[in-house]
Amino acid sequence: MNAVELSRVNKWYGDFHVLRDVDLTVARGERIVICGPSGSGKSTLIRCINRLEEHQAGKIAVEGTELTGDARSVEAVRRRVGMVFQQFNLFPHLTILENCTLALTQVKRMPKAQAEEIAMAYLTRVRIPDQARKFPGQLSGGQQQRVAIARALSLSPEIMLFDEPTSALDMEMVKEVLDIMVELAGEGMTMLCVTHEMGFARQVADRVIFMDAGQIVEAAKPADFFTNPQHERTRTFLGQVL
Ligand code: ADP
Ligand code: MG
Repeated sequence: MNAVELSRVNKWYGDFHVLRDVDLTVARGERIVICGPSGSGKSTLIRCINRLEEHQAGKIAVEGTELTGDARSVEAVRRRVGMVFQQFNLFPHLTILENCTLALTQVKRMPKAQAEEIAMAYLTRVRIPDQARKFPGQLSGGQQQRVAIARALSLSPEIMLFDEPTSALDMEMVKEVLDIMVELAGEGMTMLCVTHEMGFARQVADRVIFMDAGQIVEAAKPADFFTNPQHERTRTFLGQVL
């Protein structure tokens, strides 16, 4: 079974056709990097995969479950798919530890002590267990993004989605977040990452996807993608980001 399957997915915002016949199959354990110009539909694409956005035509299946309007399929996908956003999206009024235990205690109905044990294990993995009692506003951007990753991992997702996780960070903090993502990739996590960090793409991606105007224009192994892009639009884009 594949982790994610999209076939002829189309989506509109009002009259605006944002995703155009997108086909994509992601195998379990595969690591995909998605790049492309601003406004090309990258965020929309990955937000459709965990049903933060709804597609209007075509099919999306996650771990064999087709995403339809019904609440059960939405809940099923949310349990299996973790997401990390550009702006961290932590709850500012909750401590770091509470941010990481909230879904475990509220959604999974886990006892608090057990949830805290799990959350602390992931905070340790992202190397900030000592920040657990602080609030998000007291942490650097890089630390907050690592909390966001720990929070997502606490729910034991099978697939992780990243939407430009380092774009809001000062340059010196980019590496501390990418290092965690590289580790996750090494552990076999299925990952779809929207990022323009092309060094990361070369290092971990099994496939790099280039999107433009709501379409997947090109998808290739990093070696081919960077050395021998097939499409003029890909070449132009690479000329700008490399
Ligand atoms: P990307 O992540 O590649 O920059 P997005 O998926 O965020 O692209 O957006 C693609 C296009 O859809 C953009 O033109 C954007 O303005 C538009 N768009 C995104 N979200 C909405 C929305 N909720 N309503 C209307 N238009 C939107
Ligand atoms: Mg985006």
